[in-house]
Amino acid sequence: MLEAVARPQSARLALPSLKGRQVAILAGGTLIIPAVNAGTSGLRTLVSLDRSGLSAIRIGKDRVTLGAMVRLAAIGREPALAALHPVISAIGHPTLRNSATVGGNLFAPAPYGDLAVALLALDASVTTEGPAGSATRRLEAWLAERHEGEIVTHLRFTLPAPGALRFRKAMRRTHNSAAIVTVAALLDIQDGTVRASRIALGGVGPRPLRAPSAEAALAGRPLTEAALAGRPLTEAALAGRPLTEATVRAAGEAARADIRPVDDAYASAWYRRQVLPVHVRRALLGETSGSPE
Ligand SMILES: Cc1cc2nc3c(=O)[nH]c(=O)nc-3n(C[C@H](O)[C@H](O)[C@H](O)COP(=O)(O)OP(=O)(O)OC[C@H]3O[C@@H](n4cnc5c(N)ncnc54)[C@H](O)[C@@H]3O)c2cc1C
Repeated sequence: MLEAVARPQSARLALPSLKGRQVAILAGGTLIIPAVNAGTSGLRTLVSLDRSGLSAIRIGKDRVTLGAMVRLAAIGREPALAALHPVISAIGHPTLRNSATVGGNLFAPAPYGDLAVALLALDASVTTEGPAGSATRRLEAWLAERHEGEIVTHLRFTLPAPGALRFRKAMRRTHNSAAIVTVAALLDIQDGTVRASRIALGGVGPRPLRAPSAEAALAGRPLTEAALAGRPLTEAALAGRPLTEATVRAAGEAARADIRPVDDAYASAWYRRQVLPVHVRRALLGETSGSPE
C-alpha cells in the first residue's frame, strides 16, 4: 500500500529517495497511479517530479529541449513543434495527454510509446540523472540499455525541416488505441534523391526500433516517377507524393526484416507483419492519419 509521496525540488535531490525497494518515480501518473490503485504495484513510496523544474519547452534556432515533465498536450499547443502534432494527437485522448509526460512516454510498454518512436526517428538524445551523475546518450542506445535508478531529465533533438518528419499510426479505432504499427520517418531529400533517412517503428517489437533495412532500401533512390524516367523534376512533380511507389513499396517490404512483433490484444504478430509494409509506404507518402483496421 502507498505510504508516502516525496516531492523533491530537483532530479538530483530525488535520487536519495529512489534508493531501496518499493519506490518509483511519479510523472503524469497515467500508468503508475492505476497500478497503485489496483494494489498490484507493491509500491510504498512515489517520488513525484512535479516540483523538479523539468516542465519547460525550450526552442533555440533549430534545437529543441523538452523537460521530462513536459505534458504531451503542451507539445500539441506549441506552434514551433507542429511536426510533432500528428504524433501527439494519435496518443490516447485529451485527458490523458493533459497528464502524460514526455519522460513517461519513454517508459510506456509496447505497443505504446508513439512519441518515443518519433523521437527515435528524430535521433533525439536523452539526459539522465543517476547515482553516477548526469549523462547524455542517444535515445537509440538508451532504449536498448536503460539503467535502473536513473531519472530522465531532458530530451533534445533538431527541429526537422518542414515535411521531413512523416508519421503514421495504425490502430483498431481512429482514436484512443494502442498501436498495431507506428511509423515515423525522417527524410533528407536532396537533388531529387533520398540522401538519408531514419525510420523508426513502434508496436512491432519490445520497444521502439529502427528499420535499417527499410532505410537502406530508400538510400540514393529517386524521388518521383519523373526522376525515375530521367525527366527533369518540376515543382508539380515534387509536390504531393515525392517518393515513387516502387521505392516506398521496396522500403515497406524491407522493414519486415527489422521487426520482432508479438501477439497482444490489439493484433497478432502475423497481422502486424502482414500490414507493416502498407503503413511504412503510407507514412513515406505523407499519409499521416491513423485509420481503423
Ligand atoms: C488509457 C490510456 C491510453 C493510452 N494511449 C496511448 C497511446 O495511444 N500512445 C502512447 O504512446 N501511449 C499511450 N498510453 C501510454 C501513455 O503514453 C503513458 O501512460 C504515458 O506516456 C506515461 O507518462 P506518465 O507521465 O503518465 O508516466 P507515469 O505513469 O507517471 O510513469 C510511468 C513509468 O515511467 C516512469 N517514469 C516516468 N517519468 C520518468 C522519468 N522522468 N525518469 C524515470 N522514470 C520515469 C515511472 O516511474 C513509471 O514506471 C496510454 C495510456 C493510457 C492509460
